[in-house]
Amino acid sequence: MMKYILSLMLCCCLNAFAQHPPVFEGMEMDTTLIVAGDLNVNLVRYKYGKPSISFLAIHDDEDTGVKAAFEYIQFSGGSIIDCQYGGKRNYKFTYNGQQYQTDPNSIYSKEGAKIGIEKFGPSNNEVVHQMENIARIILNQYNPKKLGYIFTLHNNADGGFGIPSYLKGYELEKVTDSVHINFQMDPDDMVLVTEKKLYNALKKANVNVVLQHTEADDDGSLSIYAKRNQIPYINVEVQHGHQEENLRLIEIAVKALYECYPNLKEKDKAANE
Ligand SMILES: [Zn+2]
Repeated sequence: MMKYILSLMLCCCLNAFAQHPPVFEGMEMDTTLIVAGDLNVNLVRYKYGKPSISFLAIHDDEDTGVKAAFEYIQFSGGSIIDCQYGGKRNYKFTYNGQQYQTDPNSIYSKEGAKIGIEKFGPSNNEVVHQMENIARIILNQYNPKKLGYIFTLHNNADGGFGIPSYLKGYELEKVTDSVHINFQMDPDDMVLVTEKKLYNALKKANVNVVLQHTEADDDGSLSIYAKRNQIPYINVEVQHGHQEENLRLIEIAVKALYECYPNLKEKDKAANE
């Protein structure tokens, strides 16, 4: 009985903690807690309906993607792992009395994790190791090697970064192989992929899309990890608040993924069976 009450209390706490309501009726949730110094990262997996696509959101201040994913899985089934650590973009924490900060999308290689921390101050081996450990647990939970893909969701601000950033002469030119722009779309709303055939399918669907260069520098980001491990990678990224467009791009990207890799659709359907 006591055990039951405790687990019930834990459930309530988790629900109160979850930052992405409304969780609709029938949604299943489980949480994995990762601790590094005084940093707590909760990997909250939301799951609903028949097995289908699995999404991943690694920045905790980017909620539009999570909300759009909820809409998607409410109608089509699927799951999302949402990394929750206080609603901010960066990991900020104290370790052995020292303060550190890093971008959670820089921890997927040793070199990248070090460079990521050094953007904000001095790093040390132990902290780099802790970041690698967080990445390892996120990857274990999301399990891209079993899924056969990585499908991430990001959001950005109005102006600044967007599809034009990947054009010749702009800041992300070096990481770009090809760019397709639909000038009817908001330049902040786009898809980034690592595989040519995904790029071609999304270009055919006439959405803003970037193919990442195979020689892009290792900055510890998940897209570089994906390419290195030969896992097809999709990032659907829209401006904060563009939820309808976010859902539209998710639907187009899921369709492109299953068209390019038909066996993945069967695998996703068979998951949990
Ligand atoms: Zn992001």
